[in-house]
Amino acid sequence: QCVQVCPTAALTEMYHTDKVWEAINDPDKYVIVQTAPAIRVALGELFGMEPGTRVTGKMVTALKRMGFDAVFDTNFAADLTIMEEASEFIYRLENNKTLPMLTSCCPAWIKFIEHQFPELLDVPSTSKSPHIMFGAIAKTYYAERNKIDPDNIVVVSIMPCIAKKAEAARPELTKDEHNHVDIVVTTRELGAMIKEAGIEFTKLPDSEFDHPLGETTGASVIFGTTGGVAEAAVRTAYEWITGDELKGEDVVFQQLRGATGLKDATVEMGDRKIRIGIASGLGNARKLLEEIREGKSKYDIIEIMACPGGCIGGGGQPFHHGNDEVIKKRQQGLYQEDGEKKVRKSHENKEIIELYKNYLGKPFGETAHRLLHTHYEERERI
Ligand code: SF4
Repeated sequence: QCVQVCPTAALTEMYHTDKVWEAINDPDKYVIVQTAPAIRVALGELFGMEPGTRVTGKMVTALKRMGFDAVFDTNFAADLTIMEEASEFIYRLENNKTLPMLTSCCPAWIKFIEHQFPELLDVPSTSKSPHIMFGAIAKTYYAERNKIDPDNIVVVSIMPCIAKKAEAARPELTKDEHNHVDIVVTTRELGAMIKEAGIEFTKLPDSEFDHPLGETTGASVIFGTTGGVAEAAVRTAYEWITGDELKGEDVVFQQLRGATGLKDATVEMGDRKIRIGIASGLGNARKLLEEIREGKSKYDIIEIMACPGGCIGGGGQPFHHGNDEVIKKRQQGLYQEDGEKKVRKSHENKEIIELYKNYLGKPFGETAHRLLHTHYEERERI
């Protein structure tokens, strides 16, 4: 199913909503849905609400009424990503392995480096992106715990992103006995489905995500904005490296915040000074990657997001036509949610701690590697 996204029909967007309805209507399938951090501050715009309005509870209610068997938050898997990325960073730091380490949750920039900078493929973290990690856990840990045949589980990701559709189809993420993620739909597609179902979105009461893959932290919600993944990783790496606790508002690293395309910060962790670079937009990413290629990079960690502003400005979000104010309002919505959370560090998420204790073992250990890490491949230059 395609929809026209420009007046001349020169551009069309592949819609996968029919596949989702088909899965929901199949009595043999157990259909799990997960929603990315950036959706909650933008979905309301499709129903006349102000950009940045948090509609998390209404969104969960809508998904339950649409017939999904379980409704989870990709933020849970964002916390899982931080457990793996922070562990990998410390491993590289302490063993003189490749630095800087680049974050790997944006599939558009991963594809960009595979095509444009194939000599740097040891630089990105090997951690899979959060929604892919979620799919891996849903079809193993969750399936075993709930005695559901993973063959009957369908994982649907609601993403702000069109690139996530291609990511879910990458051969290395589909070659095992189960796809990690079966169907990806965007924020706009979710809006269309809610309307199709005749749900009056603005009048919905709030509901909570299901458990045990539903507990989340403030660190995970800021994944939706540029700088958020790095800030979340720094919160965990800081405490693990120094053994000191970040209390209250000390978890906020202002230098990593804001919507500018290139940001730079230094964070002291014990006797180490960790240099962090942030790029959003592929033009800015290219600058940081060229510095690495030329041996001139001063950074230890780099976060790259292909879309200006990060996922809040993703290609699957309600159209904002380059309006920076919309991006800033969505960003504020995420920062507010972080500020209101009781738990703001990924390694303090109780369901994540339980997952490692009961199933994964050590972060960056053998089982975690098998389920949560991947590799990258050189692709033809374009
Ligand atoms: Fe997708 Fe854009 Fe987010 Fe990258 S930054 S994951 S392309 S929405």
